[in-house]
Amino acid sequence: MSCQFKKARSPMLGIARIQAIYRSTRVRIAACFPLGIAARLSISFSAVAILAAAANMIVEQGVSIVRTTHTATVTPAAPTILPTTQPTQSAANSKRINADRLALSIDRYERTTRNRAVTASTEAAEQLRNASKDLDATSADFFAQAHVDGGASTSSLATRVKSYKTVGAEYLQLSDERRTVLGDYAAQFEALNIQVNASLEGAWKIFNHVFARQSLMQLRADLDLMRREFAVISSTAGYGADSIQLLVASETTFERTLRRYEKALQRSEGARWVQQLHQSFASVVELRKKLIDIDARRRQIDREFADTGARIATAIPTATVAVPPRVPTLPFKASRPALLTANGGTNTTGIPADTAVTTTTTIPHDDGRRALVAWITTAVLALLIIISLFTVRSVLIPVRTMLDVTSKIAGGATDVRVPRGGIKELDTLAVAFNQMATRLAAAQELTRGHQQQLEAKVEDRTRQLLHLAEHDPLTQLPNRRQLFALLNQAIALAADGGFHVGVFFIDIDNFKNLNDSLGHAFGDRVLISIATRLGGTAQQFGFAARLGGDEFTVVYQQARTAEEVREAGWKLVHAFQKPLLVDDRELIVSVSVGASLYPDHAQHAEALLSAADAALFQAKALGRSQLAVFTPELLQAATNKFMTEQGLRRAIERGEFELMYQPEINLDTMEVGLVEALIRWRLPDGRLALPGEFLAVAEDSGLIIEIGDWVIRTAIESAARWHHGAWPGARVAINVSARQLLDRRFVERVQGLLHEFDLPPGCIEIELTETVLQTGPATIESLHRLRASGIPIALDDFGTGYSSLTSLEQLPLTRIKLDRSLIASVDTSSRSGAIARAIISLCSSLGVGVTAEGIERIEQFHFLLAHRSIHLQGFLIAGPVSGGDLLELNAKMNSIMSQLLLSIPQQANGGSVADISAARFNAVKTLRNS
Ligand code: C2E
Ligand code: CA
Ligand code: CA
Repeated sequence: MSCQFKKARSPMLGIARIQAIYRSTRVRIAACFPLGIAARLSISFSAVAILAAAANMIVEQGVSIVRTTHTATVTPAAPTILPTTQPTQSAANSKRINADRLALSIDRYERTTRNRAVTASTEAAEQLRNASKDLDATSADFFAQAHVDGGASTSSLATRVKSYKTVGAEYLQLSDERRTVLGDYAAQFEALNIQVNASLEGAWKIFNHVFARQSLMQLRADLDLMRREFAVISSTAGYGADSIQLLVASETTFERTLRRYEKALQRSEGARWVQQLHQSFASVVELRKKLIDIDARRRQIDREFADTGARIATAIPTATVAVPPRVPTLPFKASRPALLTANGGTNTTGIPADTAVTTTTTIPHDDGRRALVAWITTAVLALLIIISLFTVRSVLIPVRTMLDVTSKIAGGATDVRVPRGGIKELDTLAVAFNQMATRLAAAQELTRGHQQQLEAKVEDRTRQLLHLAEHDPLTQLPNRRQLFALLNQAIALAADGGFHVGVFFIDIDNFKNLNDSLGHAFGDRVLISIATRLGGTAQQFGFAARLGGDEFTVVYQQARTAEEVREAGWKLVHAFQKPLLVDDRELIVSVSVGASLYPDHAQHAEALLSAADAALFQAKALGRSQLAVFTPELLQAATNKFMTEQGLRRAIERGEFELMYQPEINLDTMEVGLVEALIRWRLPDGRLALPGEFLAVAEDSGLIIEIGDWVIRTAIESAARWHHGAWPGARVAINVSARQLLDRRFVERVQGLLHEFDLPPGCIEIELTETVLQTGPATIESLHRLRASGIPIALDDFGTGYSSLTSLEQLPLTRIKLDRSLIASVDTSSRSGAIARAIISLCSSLGVGVTAEGIERIEQFHFLLAHRSIHLQGFLIAGPVSGGDLLELNAKMNSIMSQLLLSIPQQANGGSVADISAARFNAVKTLRNS
């Protein structure tokens, strides 16, 4: 990492430049010293700790600021050496030599004694010895002379000279003692001084200022005071009581200070140190007392010495001697402390000559020092604040930057990065963060790619779904939804352009039949083929759509006339005249087409489709390959149909249906073989509606399922009532719609009801029509199961459809019911008669029973009478009656049948007549017997 500081090249001005320089410098410094949070905090808190410790020490230890003042060398003043003057002899004044000599000797002796007291030198001692000898010699001469001249006075003078010498010796002794005590005092005092100073040596010295403990400083100051006070006493013997008091006071101060700080000193200097200080101080005090005592005695002897000398001088008999003026003796009352040198450099005070004296002074109220302390304190605090701020900033700024970048990334900006530098940990974090951001950006890029792929897929899928939503998956033609959209568009365009829009509803004739017989898969392919054909044809004028199942729609978008639409309708019908090719098989399919027109028949898509549907209904009624165009009457029919449907729903809820029962007579026994249950709807006005009025609507709407359920239950219930009651041989035929059979639970329901009403299966007969063949193999399977459970099955309306013989082959039938249309002309048309006979014969050989329906005339009855083992049903015999009237009808049936037989017209021709006659005969006979 480069740590070079480059000069900014771009010229910048003022604060901005300073800020830029500061920023770059800060970054570079941070890069050079990548200190971590721990290091920064350690530095900061160490600084704080040091400062706190210093402050604490200042406060706790009570440091004062002292100043070492000058170190001065004290040189004691040169002692005043009195000249040892030789006695001078004045020849002019002296008459008596001896007296003069004696006076001079006394004076000499006194001066040398005092000199010797001050200076303990060998020279002074020698002078004193000579003066003493001289005095002895002079006094001896004088007394010898005096003895000649004078009497007794000379002897007392001699005594006085002797005592004078004794006093002089005593004075000398006291002076020597004083010197010794002074030496001891100086030694002890110095010991004290050294001890205190040695401890002070360990204190801090900054810029010639000593920072030391208050206790030691105070002790030294006290010692200095003591020294000064003692100097007054030691320098002269003539001090007064006030000087002594001051010295004692200074001692007391020292002692008090020592006691005050005793504990602190014991902690800091040790107990031994303190004890030693105490001992030295006690010795100093003791020596001071001794000195004062000596000085008192010495002053007394001094006075005595001087007095004795004076008295001797006075007592000398011839006082004519010129006595030299007395020189002042020892300067006891010197104005300044003159220290006399004695004994090798030690003056009389005991303080060594040329000694360096260090004086320290405590300055408790020095404003200059206080200001210094204040400045230092302020500087320290400022430093503290700067360090704290820098530390906080150095942590805060990178954290804020990181937060800022994080929020930007959270906001979706992936190209932002955290700037490097600053605290080590945060720098590491920044590196990791930036890596993460890079990866995030890469991941986002990848995700974007995936998303684009996904979006393309979704778009594709949506297109497919949209296509699916708008198209029929099998034929790919527009579905119902798309049909409406396109039709609405066409209507809107036609409305603007004044065109007609044609809507065709197309139904494939008998498609169900085809589907069931050839299979659903094939049926689907047929539907695709039909759709292709329809689409191809519609292409010329519009488009085709599939509504579902076999229902298709074609829209003619812009027709100028109604006739154009009609022609297009026929084109659609005729398009299927050519066979379809499915799986290489040619297939003939026909369609029925219902057409409606915008704006002639309706204004909206829905209504146009309904109108076309109504027309289709009409087309189908017309037969195969038919086109019907909507008319208002058809709309009325459609309306009626709707009303009927609504009424049927209400009828189911309110139970407005009833069952009537029409007998079928067994020609073998001429009795009621079974009764057919026929539904009626009792309308709110009390009229009974026939099935022909509502069953088609019930079939179309699916309501036939519920209605049929009711019929089965009611019919079985009635049959059971009769069977278990007045008519044990009761059998009830129940009409069942093909749609009912489509329900897989149908067989179980019938069986359940038989079980519920405890009715043998042979007591009912299920009637169904050929249409059941169109419902597929499942229903046929159901019929087999019904048959297997012992329930007889009849095929209704036989001879009207196209697959009657197929029905006979495929269905498990026990009976067929020859349709009314065939029976109608059975006696008039030889063709119909032949067919009827053939069917009856065929069924007979197949073991299938036959019922002839719709016997209205006696001729029909007569014709059918020739056939044994058939049943007859018709108004001629009996119409439908209510369940309550049935038993009564049954009771009358013998007479009805007799009447019918008897009313048969006689015919003479043919064997058949004989047969009929025989039958008639038998019948009548039977009737009569009964
Ligand atoms: P269908 O099964 O052929 O019933 C016989 C119909 O012929 C009955 O008409 C009956 O009243 C009528 N009929 C009987 N004898 C003669 C006659 O000599 N001359 C004439 N012209 N008609 C005769 P209905 O009751 O009006 O029933 C009509 C059709 O309604 C029935 O024809 C049947 O297909 C259907 N139907 C009736 N009741 C039910 C029912 O409960 N369920 C179902 N699914 N269909 C029913
Ligand atoms: Ca029937
Ligand atoms: Ca019938």
